[in-house]
Amino acid sequence: CGIFAAVSDKPVAHILLEGLKRLEYRGYDSAGIAMLDDHKLKRVCAVGKVTELESRMDSEAFPGCIGIAHTRWATHGSPSEANSHPHMADGVAVVHNGIVENHGELRRRLKRQGCSFLSETDSEVIPWLISRAVAGGAGAANAVRSLSDDLEGSYAVAVLTEADGDVLHAKRHGSPLVAALGPLGGYLSSDISALAGFADEAIVLDDGDQVELRRDAIAVFDKSGRAVTRPRMTVEAVG
Ligand code: GLU
Repeated sequence: CGIFAAVSDKPVAHILLEGLKRLEYRGYDSAGIAMLDDHKLKRVCAVGKVTELESRMDSEAFPGCIGIAHTRWATHGSPSEANSHPHMADGVAVVHNGIVENHGELRRRLKRQGCSFLSETDSEVIPWLISRAVAGGAGAANAVRSLSDDLEGSYAVAVLTEADGDVLHAKRHGSPLVAALGPLGGYLSSDISALAGFADEAIVLDDGDQVELRRDAIAVFDKSGRAVTRPRMTVEAVG
């Protein structure tokens, strides 16, 4: 139900948790984070409150400078740790808001190709679609771009890959997502209000847009892959 992601040259674990807490008002049943640590994806999830997730992270070190985070409102598959986002497949981690309407058909196709599923969600087809495209020689950006050929329904996704570990990729169709750059790095959020204190303004993405976000740059592309400029909105300071 909420996405928050960050890329910086400093550790981002506390920023991701803060972002999730600010998205709590949207309602959720579980939460999770994936970060890159020494070029490897590391995931932690918890059913229940973001503070539950936070206490699990306290017991381990999460020094990574890039990560994606999610609060889930289950639509397909019960609220459980296995069904919590991020979902992962072969070095690709994805958080998804929305519903993949044709997940059954995609899951059958991917299973025939040898992919194995760990959750009951509609969302888990997404990391598999991306990792198959990357294995087939596509770069991460093109792999994310080709999601629109396969997915029916609504989605906002944030994607982190081991192969392209300095970049957050994101795409939206029907579910909200904004991107922003602040002094400490780049951010993605379902809601502009969660960016208070992190960035002064945010780019509001259009349907079909894709983003490549680095710690010091944002590039936005429309559904045909053309670089575009989108309107910026001021992030209101809180308090
Ligand atoms: N449909 C997905 C699921 O049930 C995502 C739900 C959401 O937007 O939180 O896992």
